[in-house]
This record gives sequence, C-alpha cells and structure tokens, in this order.
Amino acid sequence: MKETQLFINGEFLDNGDREMRENINPATEEVISLFPMATEEDVAAAVDAAFEAQKSWEKVPPIERAGYLMELVELVKENQDVLARATSEEMGKPIAQSTDEAGWLAAYIQYFAAMARHIKGEIIVSDRPNENILLYKMPIGVAGQIMPWNFPLFLIGRKVAPALIAGCTVVLKASSDCPNGAYEFAKLVEKSSLPKGVINVITGSGAVAGASLAANPKLGIVTVTGSTAVGKKIMKAAADNVTKVSLELGGKAPVIVMNDCKLDETVEHVLNSRIYNSGQVCNAAERVYVQKGIAEEFTAKIIERMKNVTYGPALGGTFDMGPMVNKAQQEHVAELVQSAIDEGATIECGGHAVTVDGKGYFFEPTVITGVKHESRVMVEEIFGPVLPITTFETLDEAIEMANDCEFGLTSSIFTTDYDTVMRAMNEIKFGETYVNREHFEAFQGFHQGVRGSGIGGEDGERGLEEYLETHINYIDYDLTRNKQ
Ligand code: NAD
Repeated sequence: MKETQLFINGEFLDNGDREMRENINPATEEVISLFPMATEEDVAAAVDAAFEAQKSWEKVPPIERAGYLMELVELVKENQDVLARATSEEMGKPIAQSTDEAGWLAAYIQYFAAMARHIKGEIIVSDRPNENILLYKMPIGVAGQIMPWNFPLFLIGRKVAPALIAGCTVVLKASSDCPNGAYEFAKLVEKSSLPKGVINVITGSGAVAGASLAANPKLGIVTVTGSTAVGKKIMKAAADNVTKVSLELGGKAPVIVMNDCKLDETVEHVLNSRIYNSGQVCNAAERVYVQKGIAEEFTAKIIERMKNVTYGPALGGTFDMGPMVNKAQQEHVAELVQSAIDEGATIECGGHAVTVDGKGYFFEPTVITGVKHESRVMVEEIFGPVLPITTFETLDEAIEMANDCEFGLTSSIFTTDYDTVMRAMNEIKFGETYVNREHFEAFQGFHQGVRGSGIGGEDGERGLEEYLETHINYIDYDLTRNKQ
C-alpha cells in the first residue's frame, strides 16, 4: 500500500511508528493510500524549521523569491496530470475540474511571483521639523496554513504564494480527505531549489496537528480555510499568543433573481454555481430568492436543467459531478434535505443519497420548493448539489432575507435594471456580490467574508497585505552637523 510522508525542513520523514490513516476514494470506497498523522512534536519541528528558514528567507530580495516561485510554476505545469489525478482520486471531482485546478495552482503562483515589485511602504509627513516618518511593510513571520478539502490544489497556491513573496515561510497542514495532492506538491518543492524549511507540508488530524499548529507561539499568522466551527476554535487557540488570524470560513450565498433578469442566462449561472464540485464550494449558490412574476418559469427551467446533470466516478467517464467528498458529507446533505421534507417542502427532483455501480457517496442533483426563509436548508450550509428556492415580491424583502444570515461570504443578483444593481451593491451585506454571473472569484480580487464567514481575506494586493506587518520608523535628522 502506498504511504505518504511528512515533509519537514526539506526532507520526507520516515513514518516510523506514527499512526497511519486510510485515504479513501469517495467514488469507489477503495483505500488509495495511507497517510501519517503528525504528532504535536512533528508540528513543533515543522514550525521550528520554518522559523529558522524565515530568518534568511526574509533577506532574499523579493524578485529573487519570485524566481523560486517561478520554478514551482514550471514544476506544477510539468506535473499537472499527476496533481489532478491524485485530487480526483481522493476527493472525487471530475478529472477536467482537477486538471483546471492544477492549472490555477500554477497560474496563481505565477500571479504572486509578479507581485515581487509591489511591496511598498509609505513616507508620512511629520509634525516636527527635521523628521521623517517611514512606514515599512515587513514579513509577518511563519504562517501556519490549514487547508480544507474542496480545492486542495488551488488553495495551496492561494496560501503559499503570497506568504512566500512577502518573505514568510510556511507550515501547510493538508486536509485528511486530501493528503495526496499536498504530498505530490511537497515532492515538487523537494525537487526545486527552494531553501530547506521555507515550505513544510504535513498531514494529520484537526484536533492534534491543526490545533497544535494554531497554538504555536512562533507563528506570525495562522490562516485557515474551513468551516466556521473550526475557524472559531483556531481563533481561540491563536488568542493565547495574540497571533494574527486570517479565516476563510463557510458560506450560505443568497441568489436574488428579479422579474427583469435574462432568464436563460440566469438559469445557467445558478446551475453552474450549484453543481460545480458537486456543490462543495464555499461561494456556491446555496439559496435562491426568486421574484414572484418569474418564479414559475425560472423554477421549471432550473428543474429541467438539474434533471439533466450527470454524475459518476471522477476517473470513470465524463460527468458533470463526482461524489460527495466522504460519507459524512453525503449524510449531512441527506439530513438537510430530510429536514425540508419534514417541514412540508416539495422535492422537485433528486433528493436522495445514491451509489453508482453499488459504490460511492453520491447525491442526486436536487431542487426543493416551498421552503421557508427560516428553514434549516435555507439557513445552514448545505455544501452539496441541492438548490432550495423561495419567492419574494419586493427588492426590499429580498435584500432583507439575503442579509438575515449568520454567514456573509458571497451573494448574487440577476437583473437588467441599473437602479436594482446599485441598491444591491450598496445594501447587500456580504464580502462579495456577483451581478449577472456565476459565483467565482478572480486572482486579483479580494475573497473575504463578513460575519461568520471570516476575518481577513485572500487574493490580490490585499491578500498579500495579510502576510505583511507594519514597522514605523521616526527619524530625526540634524540640520547643523554637515555645516560645521
Ligand atoms: P473543516 O473546518 O472541517 O476543516 C478545515 C481544516 O481545519 C482541516 O484541515 C481540519 O483538519 C482542520 N481542523 C479541524 N479542527 C481543527 C482544530 N481544532 N484546530 C485546527 N485545525 C482544525 O472544513 P472542511 O470540511 O475541510 O472544508 C469545508 C468548509 O470550508 C466549508 O464550510 C466551506 O464553506 C469552507 N470553505 C471556505 C472557503 C472560503 O474561502 N471562505 C473556501 C473553501 C471552503
């Protein structure tokens, strides 16, 4: 059986007597490989390695750091198929989507390599004569980076690249549902000429590896992409050391569909936002509010499109969707659908946990109508291919329901009216709003949530700022000295 290893200080460690866990293919239920559970001592060793490496890494000029990043870009491109296959096998997304994701990993690292010359401070005018105030932007130190399973390749880039270009070193903890993609990436780091300890990659449980990473006093920042419940635990662990946190957490994106939208385009965008990655996307369309005048037509069209969505094993054919990442996720989706049924909602299509050829944690593409705004399925993150729809009469009503939410990551509105767009942009209280398009962010944007969806964010120049801290210098100079 294939075994992966921890990558610490530039070396793959022998697994020795570490506990090993099974990595399961969610489409076939077969064991793919075993991965090591990092102990608290392993985590401490990884942070120590990153801490030592950071002392010299921060002195490497950013443009030279960019050179190392570009080496990784080339290695990722050369190994795009290996990375994609590992991800499809262990988390189930269709191979075309994993291949795209490995491509984004390369493109994202490249994007941040080009940021090398964008790190800049400020000169501030003083109140005093003969004084300069210089605000420097310095690397924040070691970044502890905790990963989810839903974009296990792309998010390596999103976390590692800005940290490295800023002059930070990293300890990246992979999700236990996706250890192999991270392991394949670590192999590329080993092949590159990056100094030892700059990137460390570990696997292990949230309770031990994640928790001890978040609580390590040598970190400058701890960042997680994951659920709100885990984000809260990490924030508490970081609080003891007053470590900065950057939390990219759950979402419950509302979609507002107005009577005056372009109907067919709207249907396609909502569909894509719900089925991509089997609906396991933090900014996916999680709840639809459709205006009464168009509700019947919109609902009929989206049901028709959802019925035609295909699903099957990621490596066993060409399908729109793969399985849920694991059995627990499949059960979670089924439970939320059942709660809607219990409340008297109507399952228009789908609604069941299913297998393909007797195996796998699949869930049928599902549309639910007759749900109430306060139903669990409209309030809790589903993270599956299930679209609950409710109706409204006025824009005020729709905005109020959209904002009435624990989460605040993504939202969208479909309309052809300029005034409606302007009101939505000003009154929808979410980190991001998409107007007349599917939910998917850009490298140069700023992906961030408000309320329970997190603190801080990623992408673009603001994403880089997360890994920089300010150091202000007051310099008094002597006007007389050179005149003597
Ligand atoms: P999760 O919260 O279960 O796990 C995330 C990571 O945290 C894992 O690596 C896990 O091992 C670790 N962890 C668990 N307990 C921990 C602890 N006590 N201390 C430290 N680390 C701990 O999330 P998941 O199921 O892997 O991913 C799905 C979630 O991620 C969804 O809620 C989704 O919305 C969210 N997500 C958010 C974004 C975003 O950008 N906001 C992007 C993708 C996914």
